[in-house]
Parts: sequence; C-alpha cells; structure tokens
Amino acid sequence: MKFSAQKGTKDILPSEIYRWQKAEQTFASVCHSFGYEEIRIPTFEQTDLFARGVGDTTDVVTKEMYTFEDKGGRSITLRPEGTAGVARSFIENGMTSLPTPVRLFYNITAFRYEKMQKGRYREFHQFGLEAFGAEGPSIDAEIISVVDIFFKKMGLENIGLRINSIGCPKCRAEYNKLLKDHFRPHIGEMCEDCRERFEKNPLRMIDCKIDGSKDIVKNAPRLIDYLCEDCKAHFEGLKSELDALGVKYEIDPNIVRGLDYYSRTVFEFVSENVGTQGTICGGGRYDGLIGIMDGPATPGIGFAMGVERLLIEAEAQGKLPEKPSHVRLYVAAMSDAAKKTASKLCYDLRLAGIGCETDLAGRSFRAQMKYAGKQEIPYLVVIGDDELANGEVKIKNMANGEETPVKLDEIVKYCQDNIV
Ligand SMILES: [Zn+2]
Ligand SMILES: [Zn+2]
Repeated sequence: MKFSAQKGTKDILPSEIYRWQKAEQTFASVCHSFGYEEIRIPTFEQTDLFARGVGDTTDVVTKEMYTFEDKGGRSITLRPEGTAGVARSFIENGMTSLPTPVRLFYNITAFRYEKMQKGRYREFHQFGLEAFGAEGPSIDAEIISVVDIFFKKMGLENIGLRINSIGCPKCRAEYNKLLKDHFRPHIGEMCEDCRERFEKNPLRMIDCKIDGSKDIVKNAPRLIDYLCEDCKAHFEGLKSELDALGVKYEIDPNIVRGLDYYSRTVFEFVSENVGTQGTICGGGRYDGLIGIMDGPATPGIGFAMGVERLLIEAEAQGKLPEKPSHVRLYVAAMSDAAKKTASKLCYDLRLAGIGCETDLAGRSFRAQMKYAGKQEIPYLVVIGDDELANGEVKIKNMANGEETPVKLDEIVKYCQDNIV
C-alpha cells in the first residue's frame, strides 16, 4: 500500500525549508529586539478552551475545529489558533503577576478543517505575538511596528496597514441596537448564519462572506462613528503614535475580525500587489479575554500571521532568500591512507562548526569530483599520497578556480577565517 499526505497537509522539503527557516529566524530576532520571548504551547487543548476563548459563534469553532474524544473520554481539540492557548498558559503559570507588559511570541502549526483552496492548508503555520497587561495605545503601536519592521527585514513592499476600532462592550451595546434596527427589515434577505448573528453578535454581519457585498451591509452604520469617549481617545492615541513612528496606515471601518474577544484596536496588513492581494497578518486588542477565561481582568493585544501566505508574498516579490550551502568544503581522498586523514579532518572541521563532507560510498576519485560538483559545494580539497607526504594541500574555490596552499594542520584555522 502506498501512503500519501492527508488532504490539506504538506511536506516541507529540504529544497524549500531554508525559506521557512529564514522567516522564522527573522521573526524571532525582530521580536527579541522588542523584548518579546518565545513561548511554546501544546498542540491540543481541551475543547472548551477554544469554545470559551475563541468564541462559540465563530466559524472557526462551529465548523472548522479538529475535535475528537481521546481514550480517556475527554473532548480534545487541535489548536485552531494560538491566542487561546497562550492566554491559558499565561493564567495557569502565574504570569499575571509578572511586571507588565508580559511580551510573548510564538511560531506554531494550527489546524482548521477548511474548504480546500490554493495556498490554504488544514495544517498551517502561524507566527504570532501577545502582549498582556498594557492598557494604553502605545502597546498597540508597538506590536504593529513589530510586523512593520519584520516585513522590512524580509524585504517586502506594498503591504498596507489598515486599522479600525471596534469599541468596548459599552459602545458596542449602543451600536448593536443601531445595527439591529438597520438590519431588522432586511433580515429575510440575509444568509442563515447572519440570521443567527443578528441575535448573538450583529457586528459579525458586517464581514459576512456571503452578504458582504450587498448594499444593506455596505450602508450599515459604522461602529467607528459611534465610539464612546474612552475608545475614541484610545484610537486617536494609536494614530498619533503611528504617525510619530512614521508607520503609514489607512482607516478601514469594515475590519471587524471574526473572533468575539476583540475590543478597540483591530488591524490587518494586506498585500496590495497584483496577484497576491489579501490579508497576511491580522490582530487586535482583546481586553476581555483573560477575564472570560476566569483569569484576573488583564488587557491584552496580539496578532497572527499566516506563514504560507507570507512566503507566497515573498516569492511574488522576488524576495525569497538564496539557498544557503551548509556544507562548505568537500574533502576528496585519493587513497585508503588519505581516506583516514580526510575522515579525521572532517571531524575536526565539524567540531569547529564548519560544514564538510567526504566520501562514504567508496566512489572513485572522478566520481567524488562529480558528486561535489552536483552538490554545489563551494570549496574543495584533495588529499592524496603527495599531500600526505608534504603535509600541505590546496584549497580550491570552485566559483573562480583559485587555489590556496594550506598546511594540513592549519586547515581548520584557514577554513574558519576564509570559507565560513
Ligand atoms: Zn467604548
Ligand atoms: Zn451573511
């Protein structure tokens, strides 16, 4: 029987893994430069965590979760996103008493049973970040600038920042009344989901995928016009902080985010490049989340970025990194005595952190040369009986053919200085 990868999953092969590693290293280093530390959370949690923390009216929770009963009869769910798990860990591990803001970032796989389409996977990768305990708009501007600097470090251009405020429970309650009055006479024309949202969370009717293009949705009152004084001041504060940083943005009243725990600031980074338009990163403030998870009321804000989506964008912009050559030197051996010297030399080189290879397959000298060429190993050294007798070899730069004589017992030092 031949096996194949499951629908919606994908192998990341050595031929492309360096792209992922470059993105991961860049993201980690940008996060570190702000004082964010990495957190690793479990792949699965109890199902209730997501029902509570993500919101049980969202598509993610109602339609897309990988939920199963384990052998102990517990309802388990593969994480569909990172925030709920990080928030659970934050509460459970006493991080609520740490000095604020508590800055955490993550690099995870997540799982959603979604309709198959190009670039969408059921097991997918996310970079994300959460900051807990900071109330004012400065932290909003900070996490937005993490993304902005990350894109710059990746060399990406034309990714627009869109911001909005979805207010607090106070202004949203007022606004929900207006929204219901607006939609009530037309509820029969809306999709089934919207009819349910009308009762539970009318704000989410604004970003309905089915009804979003209808005039009744486009002409709906905009929450940004009905913010309470505190929410208005917060949003103005964010705008002036972004202005001070020189981070450009547009205000987009239609960003509401699909998750119930968001409040005030919401934002998206959207590609404006032809062919790859779409959201790469989305985030926002969720001041109510820690409270509804029975933690002490703590403000929070975060974002998540789709790594698959990010790499498609990097490729479209011609900004994928070059494949690095981890193996820098090929040590060819022309005799049995030379093979022993070659093996010991490789051992010493690796101990010194220099990637190298020598033949293990009993290849002829010619076949060794052919192998080294095929692997595109950038430097070559040949050890034969003459080299052993003289105690000296030539190290050849394969790109320009240049040869440098080096004493056998100085090869490690030479390589450290010249070919790493
Ligand atoms: Zn408010
Ligand atoms: Zn709808």
